[in-house]
Amino acid sequence: MYFPSWLSQLYKGLSRPIRRTTQPIWCSLYRRLVQSSQRRNPEFNSFAVRTNTCGELRSSHLGQEVTLCGWIQYRRQNTFLVLRDFHGLVQVVIPQDESAASVKKILCEAPVESVVRVSGTVISRPAGQENPKMPTGEIEIKVKTAELLNACKKLPFEIKDFMKKTEALRLQYRYLDLRSFQMQYNLRLRSQMVMKMREYLCNLHGFVDIETPTLFKRTPGGAKEFLVPSREPGKFYSLPQSPQQFKQLLMVGGLDRYFQVARCYRDEGSRPDRQPEFTQIDIEMSFVDQTGIQSLIEGLLQYSWPNDKDPVVVPFPTVTFTEALATYGTDKPDTRFGMKIIDISDVFGNTEIGFLQDALSKPHGTVKAICIPEGAKYLKRKDIESIRKFAADHFNQEILPVFLNANRNWNSPVANFIMESQRLELIRLMDTQEEDVVLLTAGEHNKACSLLGKLRLECADLLETRGMVLRDPTLFSFLWVVDFPLFLPKEENPRELESAHHPFTAPHPSDIHLLYTEPKKARSQHYDLVLNGNEIGGGSIRIHNAELQRYILATLLKEDVKMLSHLLQALDYGAPPHGGIALGLDRLICLVTGSPSIRDVIAFPKSFRGHDLMSNAPDSIPPEELKPYHIRVSWPTDSKAERAH
Ligand code: ASP
Repeated sequence: MYFPSWLSQLYKGLSRPIRRTTQPIWCSLYRRLVQSSQRRNPEFNSFAVRTNTCGELRSSHLGQEVTLCGWIQYRRQNTFLVLRDFHGLVQVVIPQDESAASVKKILCEAPVESVVRVSGTVISRPAGQENPKMPTGEIEIKVKTAELLNACKKLPFEIKDFMKKTEALRLQYRYLDLRSFQMQYNLRLRSQMVMKMREYLCNLHGFVDIETPTLFKRTPGGAKEFLVPSREPGKFYSLPQSPQQFKQLLMVGGLDRYFQVARCYRDEGSRPDRQPEFTQIDIEMSFVDQTGIQSLIEGLLQYSWPNDKDPVVVPFPTVTFTEALATYGTDKPDTRFGMKIIDISDVFGNTEIGFLQDALSKPHGTVKAICIPEGAKYLKRKDIESIRKFAADHFNQEILPVFLNANRNWNSPVANFIMESQRLELIRLMDTQEEDVVLLTAGEHNKACSLLGKLRLECADLLETRGMVLRDPTLFSFLWVVDFPLFLPKEENPRELESAHHPFTAPHPSDIHLLYTEPKKARSQHYDLVLNGNEIGGGSIRIHNAELQRYILATLLKEDVKMLSHLLQALDYGAPPHGGIALGLDRLICLVTGSPSIRDVIAFPKSFRGHDLMSNAPDSIPPEELKPYHIRVSWPTDSKAERAH
């Protein structure tokens, strides 16, 4: 599990005795986050019964009478308390004199994680007892009054970031998990980025924040939708997978710059980077082209980017879908490192190596390779074996490993069959250095590229677990992928077509004629935004001509156009040219915070299996309550256990 350095610092800090508490770097990071992103510092104490936050007190506050509210983080020998709030920690001296016996009793008896309010004076710590690593380490609070606001029972886990707990336990007691500095940081950073996005879109560029319905009807194609029963027999709403139709209809309605922090729903199960409900920064505008949307998003990210990270450099580089596939074997390349796929078919034009010969003799047959830097040093024999097995099992492909020795000789099962001229040409093309390993495969272009794309990422992970620094953890590498095909063959039936993005995406202007001749070859005006190998956004210029939209839906995609008659009708009533994009907010924040899962940047996420482990949703409903919806559960007959649930 990757933790940012401030967190490991925090761990070290909190495991020390109280009087030596180390500075939680989190606090200074958070402070920077708060200060730098606001024109004015927010007033954290307005309307509340406290005068200050725990984390803000410094020597400049010496002598001030303060009232603090917080949770008891630690108590040491009934002499000191550390009080915590979202802003940080502060040390509180428990009074020992007789006259303050009642205060002492409250502060000594309240269990850890109880909520207390204390009032007292900010004083200097005794000489030699300052903690330069703690933001509040020069001062402490001499308490005069204390009040136990609420006692805490025995907790299911300790509220310390360094205490290991399973994710299931964290999700079951999410309200406790949220008290951790890490979750506080993630959610507060998220809120600030969204605030700045709103500012950029509404205040700087005149976008209008519009809410669209979540009770909607089924949309043809695309992701599986959640159904919501209605009281009309056999009639259901659907939860929208995105506000796509509404945002296009808003353009027809003349609201020519729309945005929304939109909740979207897809019944596709949860994965580390997926949730059944998730949030998009959803944008649509009229009278715009692809470059307009790209510049808008570059500006948006630059403006909302946290100040404690390196600034975002714009414009972002662009690759075409075809280049991305050929060079990285994927449409979401991680461009933080090289190891690009190189086509070496020409080198092996007259090879004696059987499987290369075989591949090259077939249509679209190619020989391709990636070079693993210092692979000979970092990869073990068994790694190479498992790479070969992976290629055979998942791609039905052979992988040929070629090691380059210190004396620049090949070491490979087929070394003898590689001619000197081929060897030199290969070294030149692949730019191989001593100790590198070349992984070579042969076969149909797309298949060879996909395999090498997977191996590129696998090997990068392997090299990094062995100690090589390949991807700079502070680097954010944005990339536009453009010129996608408009259609892809359907997975279930490759002879039929499905939209690569969605059916409202406009074809590339120079490929419109292909729609009527070779639709498979038509490119689209669809663009994806990729960050460090993750798709964080996607959008397109839309079809605004009803006739073209009808042709694509009915003739090419074989969809029931009746379901979209409202949209087709709207396009006929003077729909302006328009386009848009949606950014996956959870994924974006996950990458910005370096979190291992998007669940770590969502306050109340669903579990891996799509359950809310805290409230136990989804839950069963008694049959009587299902009656108004004309629904009866048909229990799976073979699974009694299921029924018991
Ligand atoms: N609605 C699309 C999606 O959710 C994004 C877009 O085309 O604007 O992927």
